Amino acid sequence: MKDLKKILPGRVSTEAEELFCYGFDASSHAGLPCAVVRPVNTGEVSKVIDFAYMHDTSVVPRGAGTGMTSGAVPLEGSIVLSLEGMNNILEIDEKNLVVVVEPGVINSRLQEALEQKGLFYPPDPTSMDFCTLGGNVAENAGGPRALKYGVTRDYVLGLEVVLPNGKVLTTGVKTHKGVVGYDLTRLIVGSEGTLAVVTKIFLKVLPLPEETVTLLCTFPQLNDAAEAVSKITYARIIPRTLEFMDRETIQAVEEYKSTGLPKDAEALLLIEEDGPACSVSENAEKIASICASLGAKVSIADDIFAKRRLWEARRAVSPALYRISPSKINEDIVVPRSKIPEMLRQLKDISKKYNVKIVNFGHAGDGNIHVNIMTDRNKEDEYRRAEDAVKDVFEATLKLGGTISGEHGIGLAKARYVGMELSPENIELMKGIKKVFDPKGIMNPGKMFPID
Ligand SMILES: Cc1cc2nc3c(=O)[nH]c(=O)nc-3n(C[C@H](O)[C@H](O)[C@H](O)COP(=O)(O)OP(=O)(O)OC[C@H]3O[C@@H](n4cnc5c(N)ncnc54)[C@H](O)[C@@H]3O)c2cc1C
Repeated sequence: MKDLKKILPGRVSTEAEELFCYGFDASSHAGLPCAVVRPVNTGEVSKVIDFAYMHDTSVVPRGAGTGMTSGAVPLEGSIVLSLEGMNNILEIDEKNLVVVVEPGVINSRLQEALEQKGLFYPPDPTSMDFCTLGGNVAENAGGPRALKYGVTRDYVLGLEVVLPNGKVLTTGVKTHKGVVGYDLTRLIVGSEGTLAVVTKIFLKVLPLPEETVTLLCTFPQLNDAAEAVSKITYARIIPRTLEFMDRETIQAVEEYKSTGLPKDAEALLLIEEDGPACSVSENAEKIASICASLGAKVSIADDIFAKRRLWEARRAVSPALYRISPSKINEDIVVPRSKIPEMLRQLKDISKKYNVKIVNFGHAGDGNIHVNIMTDRNKEDEYRRAEDAVKDVFEATLKLGGTISGEHGIGLAKARYVGMELSPENIELMKGIKKVFDPKGIMNPGKMFPID
């Protein structure tokens, strides 16, 4: 690493404390890198990758390390390439509704900068206050607003990337349309840092919606909350968010941070509708009456503080669950939304079969359920039962026509399950694509597919 320090003075650390801190993310995996490098521009990224290529050393790109599937966790001896210092919003083009950002920009910082100009970037992972746009691109992150507005991929027009041989490449367009050649931009979005390092992102943005109404609907029966989800969309209403929490989740949040959620409810839906003022209130009334017809108590957040409190509660879910048990296996399956009641029923059965507690919440509007198998990593038997339950959860999901990950990606954590969903032909083709980009296999090895 001495040579790398010479090439990039002041940017490379091999201090034990730093290596430790950059060795884990929000998953339960960890590894120790051989160095942490913090470049501040594309030229520096290119130098690091060039060095890694020449020395056959693997590189792990890293944003804020909030990933849930260990995508940013290094295998022993890798270089961690932290993009946190490349954090400039380079351009907000108000005439063409296009913005250009560096990968280390925190998602909510872009949201705030745009809102001041009456503009809107919809992808809003619940971690938006601390995750980076580079990480969002690499994971194709979604969020509560994905139901109406889609995910990160739907906003990325083009990218600047550094390829695994150190060369800089620009993909895609800066216009709202463009179909020349294969869509390399879409291929790199969601590739979890296994194909290239993203150094610049061209995003399309939208006008800020005129009005937003936030409804809290609490249900005495879990199944009725699940029924409400498909009834709302069947009524031809696509709210901007349709978030779901079950009883255990509500109670964990209230014990973690008192936000006023009703602890006796079996389930709740946090629903937000946006658009022109006239249609928003009409749709909000329709949503309220559908939920009420299924036995829900409905309240509308009447000011900005009430809205904020509800979203604080939603964002507190992940840390709050650690009140239930010291560790959890967190999956983010998606099923067709009409199959949510059936999936929830099957999750109850799996919980009984393996004698493990399963807590559910998530972006129910798009069928994305965060299934949390609560366990204690230090209790061998209990942890094994939790791991066995994961396989049943995936089998049930796939049988219902779903997918094993809606937004968290595969990383190390789910690599061994990929073959349950993808055919050998799919996997072979994907590995071939990886080889074309990265013949030496230095970009984030072990992620997405198990190492052969
Ligand atoms: C409390 C909490 C709530 C969350 N809620 C959501 C949610 O609602 N929706 C959702 O989608 N996710 C959610 N996540 C997961 C996580 O925040 C997202 O996956 C996010 O996109 C990761 O961003 P990051 O900057 O932390 O990336 P990291 O964790 O640092 O990295 C994630 C992956 O991206 C790669 N990567 C990072 N930067 C680059 C780059 N510049 N070039 C190439 N590859 C790169 C890494 O190698 C890794 O594979 C949540 C996480 C937490 C802890």
